[in-house]
Amino acid sequence: MSLNSQIEWTDATWNPVRGCTKISPGCKHCYAETFAERFRGVKGHPYEQGFDLRLVPEKLAEPFSWRAPKLVFVNSMSDLFQDGVPDGYVEIVSRVMATANWHTYQVLTKRSERLRDMLQTKLQFASDRENIWWGVSVEDRKYGLPRVDHLRRAPARIRFLSIEPLLEDLGEIDLTGISWVIVGGESGPGARPMERDWVVSIRRQCREQRVPFFFKQWGGVRKARNGRLLDNRTYDEYPSRMVTPVPEKSECAAFAEEVLRGLESLTHPDRLVSLSA
Ligand code: SF4
Repeated sequence: MSLNSQIEWTDATWNPVRGCTKISPGCKHCYAETFAERFRGVKGHPYEQGFDLRLVPEKLAEPFSWRAPKLVFVNSMSDLFQDGVPDGYVEIVSRVMATANWHTYQVLTKRSERLRDMLQTKLQFASDRENIWWGVSVEDRKYGLPRVDHLRRAPARIRFLSIEPLLEDLGEIDLTGISWVIVGGESGPGARPMERDWVVSIRRQCREQRVPFFFKQWGGVRKARNGRLLDNRTYDEYPSRMVTPVPEKSECAAFAEEVLRGLESLTHPDRLVSLSA
């Protein structure tokens, strides 16, 4: 985990899965891939296997050891709902979030149909938790907007949209049932441009539909120079967060043990589930 994430809308990142595959135009310049591939073949490095999908069960219990409540971006270097991650593993990650409930978790995916299907079934226990925010990425109309409908059909307490990188004008968006919207442009070499009007349109709709609006960045090749001001101010709105007391250390250790027992049953030879996908 990184305790001081540089991502503007979170405090920390937690990656019990690493690596991913590209599925839509928003993935073109995936920062996680660029970062991970830099270390392919470096012996002993967490990204020795580059951006290949890998489950990281040794990271599962981490949130139990963090004593101060954090806003945690889950799988900043991956996508929890991609095909290669077994249902049972997604369940255990969700059990950790539901149990270590003094943190608030942000789960973001482009695999919105699997998110919807699992929240309706195996993840029902986690769907109505105020401390787990379920979100989808939206980069354009063709691939991004259908994800909003999938998310709306998921029985989640807090649903959010990460509209980044915003690649075109999205037109009118139905924000019914959506609790938070983040908007940002692409950054880094080859960054695709984002127009001001596209951003202003989303801000207007958030205002009209009373949804908190977070403007992350303009992006561009020189992200720092372009900054994150929109009409001379920043937009750092969030949904309200619940406050839950942090249990004693011994209690946290017991919670961790209990949740990880599920991992043992998942790896039992009879279950035929590989944890080194
Ligand atoms: S889904 Fe996310 S993590 Fe996966 S390749 Fe696309 S941008 Fe990268």
